Amino acid sequence: MVDCLPMKERDTIAAISTPAGSGAIAVVRISGPETYKILEQIFSTSSKHFKKTDLRSAGSHKAIHGYIYDPKSNELVDEVVAILYQEPNTYTGDDLAEINCHGSPLISRELLALILENGARLAQPGEFTKRAFLSGKMDLTQAESVLDLIQAKTGRQSRLAISALEGHLGRKITEIRNQLMELLSKLIAGIDFPEEVGELPRDDLELIGSAAAEKLEKLSQTTRSGRFLREGLKLSLVGRPNAGKSSLLNQLLSFERAIVSDTPGTTRDSIEEPLDLNGIPVILVDTAGIRITEDSIEKAGIERTTRAIRESDLTLFIVDSTIPFEEPEEKILELIGEAPYIKVFNKIDLTEKRNIQTDGRDDNAAHVFISAVTGEGVDELSNRIEEWVLKDNSLKEAGGSLNQRQGELCRAAIKSLNHMVESSRAGMLEDCIATDLKEAIHALSEACGDEVTEEVITEVFSRFCIGK
Ligand code: GDP
Repeated sequence: MVDCLPMKERDTIAAISTPAGSGAIAVVRISGPETYKILEQIFSTSSKHFKKTDLRSAGSHKAIHGYIYDPKSNELVDEVVAILYQEPNTYTGDDLAEINCHGSPLISRELLALILENGARLAQPGEFTKRAFLSGKMDLTQAESVLDLIQAKTGRQSRLAISALEGHLGRKITEIRNQLMELLSKLIAGIDFPEEVGELPRDDLELIGSAAAEKLEKLSQTTRSGRFLREGLKLSLVGRPNAGKSSLLNQLLSFERAIVSDTPGTTRDSIEEPLDLNGIPVILVDTAGIRITEDSIEKAGIERTTRAIRESDLTLFIVDSTIPFEEPEEKILELIGEAPYIKVFNKIDLTEKRNIQTDGRDDNAAHVFISAVTGEGVDELSNRIEEWVLKDNSLKEAGGSLNQRQGELCRAAIKSLNHMVESSRAGMLEDCIATDLKEAIHALSEACGDEVTEEVITEVFSRFCIGK
């Protein structure tokens, strides 16, 4: 298990926190007990000559304008603004400074080199946030949401990440864990001092255990949409040649990327396009059309379509509504099988909706009528896709979406709680019940990082960039 590192055991780390390349400014970050000492060796408030400044007396959360010098050559390196944060009220819990220099990669690298030469060590990926976690500034769900926020590509992703960063998700889990801890202490007190405190009534135990499992169930439902929101929803477009797949792809992307042609089978290869669909990151996969023929290329098309359906989360089955639902459509339905899909009747600008011949199956697949050329119905299609992604709809209530790690731990806790309730109902001994309860508490503690192994921490923070 990982304990907080005592401040004195921490060294001082530094990194460039802004992306590579030129910009107006770049930020070099430094944090640790030597922050001020290192900075005072290279930072001067005078541009005429190096003048050592007592930076600590400038106060905390203050920006100071000054100049960076190379102490070896006494050469002026850059004009900067340093923002100083004195421990303990800082991001990492240690002294911290962010030096805003001119945004040339050369300057930021030179500044970093000077900081490293004067006693800091290059930070590992995510090490600033790791220190924030280790010094108790945030729980592990918050630390993970920092990464989600940095990597967010749509507004919806970033809003969810900011909600989790505010601690809403972690608080929900901690609340449940605390209830279970209280239950455990009552249970143990009942075992150890049955005379004094009396045994915990089984009804109470079962009630609290089931209620906690139910709350966790709601939270863990967010893992599904959380995965789509983090990793993107893979959406395949399938249909016979000329059904309008490429046109719909273009309509959704709002710019021309796939080739639109009257000759069937233009889109022989799959095309993948990223798209922000109502705030959901989507990867659209346009596949070769399916034609029932012995031609080997078409067979390859069928294979690609099958693969696209299998590899995607949701399929859009595009049907040309100007022609009857025939063998190719039947074949596609067969390929889709049990996979989730939305049936999209296209070209409604050329036909009357009420005359459209559907396959007549009552298979619960959503039907949407669109024109990929005029754009009619495309909004509704986007809404249907959004509804499908967010059908568990507990994201707002949950204060974020669980990632896979958190989701698995919540499910482990649910399993232990359900087992506990069953054991209690079966009249098992308190000790067995306490074991289940402890397991549930342990899983929730790991989700928030209260009890977590070094490997988990290393795994979580290795996904971060350097400087965060
Ligand atoms: P794909 O082979 O399924 O990718 O089909 P395309 O998107 O290449 O479309 C085939 C032909 O149908 C093109 O000439 C498109 O302009 C036309 N088309 C596609 N969708 C519509 C639609 O909604 N209305 C009309 N009128 N034409 C469409």
